[in-house]
Amino acid sequence: MRHRDDQLTVLPPSGLQDRWSRQVRYLRVSLTDRCNYRCTYCMPAEGWPLIERTGLLSLEELARVIRVFAGLGVERVRLTGGEPLVRRGVVDLVREIAQTPGIQQVAMTTNAHLLARHAQGLWDAGLRGLNVSLDTFDPERFATITRGGDVAKVIEGIQAAQAVGFTDIKINAVALDRLNGDDAPALVEGCWANGWLPRFIEVMPIGSLVEQRRDRLTSEQVFDRISRVHPLRWLERTNTPNGPARYAVVTEGPEAGQRVGFISPMSDHGFCSTCNRVRLTARGGFRPCLADDHEVSLLQAIRDGATDESLAGLIRQGLAGKLEAHHLRTPTRAPVSTMTGIGG
Ligand code: SAM
Ligand code: SF4
Repeated sequence: MRHRDDQLTVLPPSGLQDRWSRQVRYLRVSLTDRCNYRCTYCMPAEGWPLIERTGLLSLEELARVIRVFAGLGVERVRLTGGEPLVRRGVVDLVREIAQTPGIQQVAMTTNAHLLARHAQGLWDAGLRGLNVSLDTFDPERFATITRGGDVAKVIEGIQAAQAVGFTDIKINAVALDRLNGDDAPALVEGCWANGWLPRFIEVMPIGSLVEQRRDRLTSEQVFDRISRVHPLRWLERTNTPNGPARYAVVTEGPEAGQRVGFISPMSDHGFCSTCNRVRLTARGGFRPCLADDHEVSLLQAIRDGATDESLAGLIRQGLAGKLEAHHLRTPTRAPVSTMTGIGG
């Protein structure tokens, strides 16, 4: 199966617009800061201090907040974390969101360790898009990167998802030079063989971990490494609802026509110009930008008895503070929040 992300999609205006005239239609929700893996670029070995359970939005509160976002023009919701599949009740929440008027797609970003057991339930509940983190197919390297993860379980999970009907499957890899930098060609080949779309993400300094400063690879460097084996050509950047990934296509050889995505928050200076997303953090904070700690606590407002109208007002107010572009290239301005709490 080949993915067609280069098709131009013309989008009608949404009800939520930031002050840089970007339409917001996409909400990413961190269901929990907990995770069954400990990827070196995301968490320290001992994990981050955890949010108390009462500090998370309940499933009912989550469904309500998402209804408010949908009323404002959000059409797509992605559940993430931490690891969204460790949150109890996730399948019921997917069902609830999928039935929310205005929501056109519910997707998830997961490490897929628990996917095999949930795949059918998620599909039946209405989940349609899956992004899976998979940095290498090499079992030992995978275990090192995730600090104990089992790549066989991840592959089994993705294949179980395909077996129940998922076709929109993207693989997200963070490439780090000495860890898995050599594996990029093997990773894309394995993905293409299975009908998954591989994408490489540049590591971001979120949470301030040594691994984020060491061995960074830019998208161009990964592009070159793949190109030595499978010659690639950049595709025109297009206005897809999928956000800021840029795609390249294999130009010759047996894999001609296959695609690779690159998400380049660090090296692409135009990265933020088409941003169409906002976030709901594990703490119930409305966060207009991944890389900016400016948040509005919807959890506090809900627990103080806010109406849907006042929640909508807080969202609009918070959106007014959305940065035009992130400051991740300026070390002193990197966020102090963790990726798991924000929702990567
Ligand atoms: N646990 C799920 C997973 O791994 O897919 C969802 C949460 S995870 C934080 C979401 C995505 O963020 C993953 O694709 C992961 O590779 C990416 N990620 C984590 N830390 C990152 C960092 N410092 N820079 C760039 N991407 C990062
Ligand atoms: Fe967990 Fe995902 Fe972070 Fe890895 S990237 S530690 S799987 S939240």
